[in-house]
Amino acid sequence: MVVETLDSSCDGSKRKHANGGEETHLDELSNGDTGVSSSKRARVSRGEMTFQDIYGADALLNEEDEEDDSDWEPVLQNTPVEFVKWCCVNCTMANPGDMVHCYICGEHKESGILRYGYLASPFFKDTGLTEVEEKCGGSSSATSSTAVGFDERMLLHSEFEVKAQPHPERPDRLRAIAASLATAGVFPGRCLPIHAREITKQELQMVHTSEHVDAVNITSQLLYSYFTTDTYANEYSARAARLAAGLCADLATEIYSGRVKNGFALVRPPGHHAGIKHAMGFCLHNNAAVAALVAQAAGARKVLIVDWDVHHGNGTQEIFEQNKSVLYISLHRHEGGNFYPGTGAADEVGTNGAEGYCVNVPWSCGGVGDKDYIYAFQHVVLPIASQFSPDFVIVSAGFDAARGDPLGCCDVTPAGYSRMTQMLGDICGGKMLVILEGGYNLRSISSSATAVIKVLLGENPENDDLPIATTPSKAGLETVLDVMNIQMKFWPSLATAYSNLLSEWETRLIENKKNQVKRKLVRVPTWWKWGRKKFMYRFLSARI
Ligand SMILES: [Zn+2]
Ligand SMILES: [Zn+2]
Repeated sequence: MVVETLDSSCDGSKRKHANGGEETHLDELSNGDTGVSSSKRARVSRGEMTFQDIYGADALLNEEDEEDDSDWEPVLQNTPVEFVKWCCVNCTMANPGDMVHCYICGEHKESGILRYGYLASPFFKDTGLTEVEEKCGGSSSATSSTAVGFDERMLLHSEFEVKAQPHPERPDRLRAIAASLATAGVFPGRCLPIHAREITKQELQMVHTSEHVDAVNITSQLLYSYFTTDTYANEYSARAARLAAGLCADLATEIYSGRVKNGFALVRPPGHHAGIKHAMGFCLHNNAAVAALVAQAAGARKVLIVDWDVHHGNGTQEIFEQNKSVLYISLHRHEGGNFYPGTGAADEVGTNGAEGYCVNVPWSCGGVGDKDYIYAFQHVVLPIASQFSPDFVIVSAGFDAARGDPLGCCDVTPAGYSRMTQMLGDICGGKMLVILEGGYNLRSISSSATAVIKVLLGENPENDDLPIATTPSKAGLETVLDVMNIQMKFWPSLATAYSNLLSEWETRLIENKKNQVKRKLVRVPTWWKWGRKKFMYRFLSARI
């Protein structure tokens, strides 16, 4: 397992660094049981996977892995350098050198995706800038009812080490979405910008332990550090995390108070894996949890969090699993616990009197698409949300279940995301805050986030002809029925729907079997068919 390889390297207290200096690990600096050391120990003891495992399993990631320092050794003169692979700028996956298009997302080897947009990569400043700026006009409508939270300082959070394969949670994610919004004239233009503010320690302590908050803050004194093998920090990460949480908190207040109708938090680092006292899975502070508790401090009694990131939000579940005033509903790949982070089975329903206030829809395989998600929304998310009757809705909006995502490998389209947004928009008068979580294919996350914000602005969902009544895949149907069966103990409104769906699908199954039997019955021997054809031929020939 890559975990062991990477952990063993992280356990060394000092490590030779590219510039000849040495990296000091957080484990040395942390006193007692900080989030850094405890999370790492807990993760290793549970044998959990990391996102790096997925990469490690990739045969295309050859011996040139991140622990190999040979990158930094001077290349001997006359030594032939052979570039056998390239990393896709759109999704970061490694490709064989002879391929022209990325085998995961289809992006061209010489992709110019970051050359356009007003927040395009600084490496491509020369192209595309003027055209987009002219389109935006640089004006923000103060009367807009949709707010967007963004601050360029969150782009400074990046992995310090330059690796053969870039970390998927990278600043280009925000650049790409911002460029897409600007090109579409959505933001700046039609949305109200929210002034960025760093969240206070007191606010963070509503969600996290004081030790965890300190552990994140201390990273600003280090050149770079790791909470887990795949959760990095540089000297700017703590501020980025405070800005992300601060933007989510202020958006929650603005929306709940009615000063704006709804909002989108274009933030990173993401948050839904961050638990009470640990950072993990690229997440430092739990932005959705902070927003939920800030909304409650502003007066919201009941908050619904819908998490459609392809990974289970184990951090958010941990924070609220004993809390009846926050209903957490997550749709994610699970595969019997074999998909990161391994939690989120259907029978994890909440604890200590809050049973039923945690709803997990755990897909049993990859490739899940619009129809399964919309089916689950129709039969699980909306009925439960309607019975819960929240005052405020938060969406943990990872776009890594999107078509073409290198980690999620699912098939949700921008039309699917916009339809789900519309479906949630009818709850509690549309007081909804959408918070960016994961999503690593730049084209997918840009188009999906843009589609979602357009719906927040009041536009109809993309591909409005996407059928409302969808037919799920067999695996999707089984998952939805399983969840309904478990949750109807807590949400009685599901019971009738469950028995109706069950009988409907049993009838369909019986009909299918009957049709198969009929098809078998009408099968005739080949000699008979040929005989008939010969007879027809003779008959017709005679007539002609
Ligand atoms: Zn790609
Ligand atoms: Zn994710």
